[in-house]
Amino acid sequence: MNMEKILEVKNLKTYFTLKSDKFGAEPEVVKAVNDLSFDVMKGEILGIVGESGCGKSTLGKTILKLNHKTDGEILYHGEEVFNLNDKDLKDLRKQMQMVFQDPFSSLNPRKKVGSLLAQPLQIHKMGSKQEIDEKIDRIMKEVGINPVYKGRFPHQFSGGQRQRIGIARALMLNPEFIICDEAVSALDVSIQAQVLNLLLDLHDKYNFTYIFIAHDLAVVEFISTKILVMYLGKIVETADKKELVKSHLHPYTKALFDAFPATNPKGRENRDPVLMGDVPSPINPPSGCYFHPRCPRAMEKCKMEYPPLREVSPGHKVACWLYE
Ligand code: SF4
Repeated sequence: MNMEKILEVKNLKTYFTLKSDKFGAEPEVVKAVNDLSFDVMKGEILGIVGESGCGKSTLGKTILKLNHKTDGEILYHGEEVFNLNDKDLKDLRKQMQMVFQDPFSSLNPRKKVGSLLAQPLQIHKMGSKQEIDEKIDRIMKEVGINPVYKGRFPHQFSGGQRQRIGIARALMLNPEFIICDEAVSALDVSIQAQVLNLLLDLHDKYNFTYIFIAHDLAVVEFISTKILVMYLGKIVETADKKELVKSHLHPYTKALFDAFPATNPKGRENRDPVLMGDVPSPINPPSGCYFHPRCPRAMEKCKMEYPPLREVSPGHKVACWLYE
């Protein structure tokens, strides 16, 4: 794999301030992305996994400057995304695309599919009408939709077909980097597999770089080359996929794997109790390690201090006092 660094995220914070309805009260702050640092290499598929509300979708949108950032850096090919002027940002948007969870809400229901696919090229003034038509036909075939259906509206397709159209729309501008945000979560399992295989085929053909965001570890494990586990806005563990499957260390990562028996048939006698309770509020996270109220291994120290993210073996980092 080419090891060119395509994206660097350094100490990124995205906070949201909530208005308080109590007179004189301090506004509440949601630390959705809380001091994250990681790199993405060209051609890599970085899976980001965590329960709902852990900040993974906010992270994806902040990378594309669809959200504000509070602090930190997002360097795409070494350029700070938030310093780009409008023209450079428009150029960047050609290279970085997003595929959303709900293709129905991201596709204008009043436009025919051909028109939806033409739109990105028209906005960026890329190609004549004939070239755009030819590209629509080619990309529709590539994602497994017969181009004769380009005169149909989104509601005339199944959920899986609509997600293929969402992927086709992302491909129209020849991107190199695609963020898939819960892109298969709304689909039946058999359709999920088809869409994941399509994304892998496209990755192999075009050497795309993906960030693949999902709450479902099975999906993330299937598609990713590297995995980053998030909990309440923080990275708690990250490693290459093979390493993480073989040796997941953080009690939260263990709980995610233990809830997913298909990949972990061995060593079941070493399993921790199943993850209990809900994710705490990101407005007022627990003291110390945010995971301590749910952690079967919690110690006194865990309630006092947040553990740093340490490298325990090359490329394998974990934030847990068990691995000091
Ligand atoms: Fe559990 Fe403590 Fe590790 Fe947090 S730091 S995951 S509470 S053992």
